[in-house]
Amino acid sequence: MAKSCPISTSFIIISVLIHFTSSTGLRPWPDVLPYELQSLDIASQLRVDPNATRMASRDFGKLVHPPNPAAVLYPSSIEDIASLVKFSYNRSSPFSIAARGQGHSLRGQAMAPHGVVVEMRSLNNDSRGSRIRVTKNPISGSYADAGGEQLWIDVLQATLKHGLAPVSWTDYLYLTIGGTLSNAGISGQTFRHGPQISNVYEMDVLTGKGELVTCSKDTNSELFFAVLGGLGQFGIITRARIALEPASKRVKWIQMLYDDFSTFSRDQEDLISINGLDFLEGSLFMQNSPPNNWRSSFSPSEYPRISSLISKNGIIYCLEVVKYYDELTSHTVNEELQELLKGLNFLPGFVFTKDVSLVDFLNRVHSGELNLRAKGLWDVPHPWLNLFVPKSRISDFNSGVFRDILPKINQTTGPFLVYPMIRNKWDDRTSAVIPDEDIFYTVGLLHSSGADDWEPLENQNKEILQFCDKAGIKIKRYLSRYTTKEDWKNHFGPKWRTFEDRKAQFDPKMILSPGQQIFNSI
Ligand code: FAD
Repeated sequence: MAKSCPISTSFIIISVLIHFTSSTGLRPWPDVLPYELQSLDIASQLRVDPNATRMASRDFGKLVHPPNPAAVLYPSSIEDIASLVKFSYNRSSPFSIAARGQGHSLRGQAMAPHGVVVEMRSLNNDSRGSRIRVTKNPISGSYADAGGEQLWIDVLQATLKHGLAPVSWTDYLYLTIGGTLSNAGISGQTFRHGPQISNVYEMDVLTGKGELVTCSKDTNSELFFAVLGGLGQFGIITRARIALEPASKRVKWIQMLYDDFSTFSRDQEDLISINGLDFLEGSLFMQNSPPNNWRSSFSPSEYPRISSLISKNGIIYCLEVVKYYDELTSHTVNEELQELLKGLNFLPGFVFTKDVSLVDFLNRVHSGELNLRAKGLWDVPHPWLNLFVPKSRISDFNSGVFRDILPKINQTTGPFLVYPMIRNKWDDRTSAVIPDEDIFYTVGLLHSSGADDWEPLENQNKEILQFCDKAGIKIKRYLSRYTTKEDWKNHFGPKWRTFEDRKAQFDPKMILSPGQQIFNSI
């Protein structure tokens, strides 16, 4: 005969059962999340199953593996996100919340270990229609109002229907508005228009208190500037009003090779100081970063010629410029380009010209992505290092890093980018951090590796940072993540106090974007 349980044991069993099930059906409920969350309207959009939580703890970097979030919210409206944030904010021990765009971060920045990840892309299924609205106004300026979850490629497609396009880009367009505006958003247009964060008129932001606030340079400006480049620390961007210009139809795209860094960088700096070009970037080719890398656009028939240059010189520098044009300017564009490029000192015979549509140019990296995906080489670790280097030390950086440290690794890694930007195109009131010189270079070491061989590349990144430190090269890191408050303070320098004050004002309970590890340790 079965013994009956004593009352106290039954009570414990029932409590445990309640703890692990929800009122909406039997589902395990994580210990770390308050139980009452299940009685909110959003309960059915919260997933706690391992399929959802595992997905939300992956990112493009594939370098860090913190604990999974306790739950993932798939919002169908801004109100859904607001209820989640308010709920957490009103608790005596709030849980953390991270907005996740595409998860294209490198080191867990969009993760929320033991907290809740909000899959922003889920807003894209809004039954009320597209979350990109274009306003054409040639007099006061055209703009697109786009949800923070929208991809730049979709903004491009939507705006082109009106003959318009954003002015400032990233190289790769399958990134979200909220994700790039939380960093800066840079590419070859930055020297001319500033980063994407310099080209936003207005935003709707859901703060860490759960308040939805419209902000701009003139209204709630403290929040506006905090959020731009703010690493997700002050609020969730639910809408951004993005500056547009009339879209040209086509582009002339020119690449020129150099074997000497000072000639290459002098030409780059001269070109960004004059008007006329729409885009300027630069890259390096060497044995471990050959010209047929996934971002390269040379015709394969050119590889042997370029490779023999690399064998001869060790490193080759490639200056890349673009001029947009359309029907009205098609008969003058070549002449204008000739004028702009005359006097440059690239290697004779090593100039490559293409004529493509604006969309093909702006979306140029996507075909490289598709190729890598087809070969199973996209979903691999990415120990990228992105730096801003002051112009006064870029030549030392070339000798110490490009010429000395980078060639030491004997494995094919990825594209290396180097091109200049102008400080006064960045608004110092934003949270973004750049070097304290009028011109600085962005350096992108976009390594890919196999599942097991990323460590040498990580060690090399450390060596580069140590080299800069010892040589007194005052770099600033971009898209990076520090793990101690001391390092973050150094990173922000004189901006740290403002950053901290803004956190206290807009997310006082330190709920948002814990994966950046600025105010939360993981
Ligand atoms: P996520 O990685 O999902 O999020 C990034 C951070 O922003 C997290 O802290 C997250 O919590 C927060 N966040 C996300 N959405 C919001 C929101 N709506 N409101 C507030 N905070 C939010 N960057 C450039 O500047 N230029 C480039 O050319 C460039 N090229 C890239 C190419 C590739 C292939 C990849 C993978 C990345 C590239 N990046 C580039 C980096 C990119 O800007 C960052 O990865 C950025 O984080 C955007 O990615 P995401 O939209 O997936 O954001």
